[in-house]
Amino acid sequence: MKREKDSFTPKVLVIGALGQIGQELLLALRDRYGQDAVIGSDIRVTDEAPAPFISLDVMNRKKLFEVIEQHQINTLYNLAAILSAKGEQNPEFAWKLNMEGLLNSLEAARHTCLEKIFWPSSIAVFGPNSDKNQTPQLGIMDPTTVYGISKLAGERWCDYYSEKYDVDVRSLRYPGLIGYTSMPGGGTTDYAVEIFHEALQKGTYECFLSADTPLPMMFMPDAIKATIQIMEAPAESIRIRSSYNLGGISFTPAELVVAIQQHLPTFQCSYAPDFRQAIADSWPGSIDDSAASEDWNWQADYDLNAMTEEMLMQLSAHYASVPQP
Ligand code: NAD
Repeated sequence: MKREKDSFTPKVLVIGALGQIGQELLLALRDRYGQDAVIGSDIRVTDEAPAPFISLDVMNRKKLFEVIEQHQINTLYNLAAILSAKGEQNPEFAWKLNMEGLLNSLEAARHTCLEKIFWPSSIAVFGPNSDKNQTPQLGIMDPTTVYGISKLAGERWCDYYSEKYDVDVRSLRYPGLIGYTSMPGGGTTDYAVEIFHEALQKGTYECFLSADTPLPMMFMPDAIKATIQIMEAPAESIRIRSSYNLGGISFTPAELVVAIQQHLPTFQCSYAPDFRQAIADSWPGSIDDSAASEDWNWQADYDLNAMTEEMLMQLSAHYASVPQP
């Protein structure tokens, strides 16, 4: 395994930096390492993209290598992907993007100055025959979505590159992520973000999952903390090079509604399950993340009530400052 130099100073490239996680991770990394040490990139370009920012398609291997060499990048966070619900609408493209993007990143670690990669996997690697409660790190994995299939294959590639080529790749199986800064990008757990916005704006929400569907979720500050923690951990403490289970908070839509009603008593939620229900039914209800705790001291900070309070406080302030139509 490549040993980290004592004087390792991260020079970072974040791919997919305009997405739900990327927007928040970019800010957190810049707070930590300095604005100029962290370059954002995305296939989309917007005026709001915070400099330094470059337009980059992760599937363009030549340009990826050039950017890494030109900016002497040693640390890559590759967040570009098609997520679970969107992937089902175009399975072949989801497979292509999710696989080619990862392989280009792993190859960059072999052929450029890149030293360390973060690539997220997902609880979508599990399937109908996986244990539903406290799903273990290793067990049956039979994903039913193209997204889950691509993440499981991706995990095996990460392990392969670590074993065969000594690539320092680190990964987390994120659960559904809930944040107030950015909107989700087409996953099965998106309801748990949308519900807060609609509770504050309309007082009602129609949920696309049934009331009693438990899923593992995590508040974004915890996900960012875990991401930076695993990347800064000494290489020898990262025993798992495929991807670590990451737990967080497990709840059903009905339980989230009760937590919101403690602050907004008149809030009402109705249920109209769609195609995403079948995906949610194939996923675990809760996750055993003891390997992450043992190997690099992982511990989440937020429970359901603390997250709900913070989401409502932050979004109330946001909507109060935005002129309503
Ligand atoms: P997102 O869809 O919000 O963002 C992905 C970003 O990647 C977008 O800004 C998109 O423009 C960009 N992108 C797409 N194609 C690209 C390309 N070819 N080149 C460069 N950029 C491209 O996704 P997210 O929710 O921020 O997820 C980031 C990563 O975390 C993904 O790998 C996803 O599978 C994983 N993940 C997310 C969640 C979640 O709840 N959000 C849960 C589990 C895993």
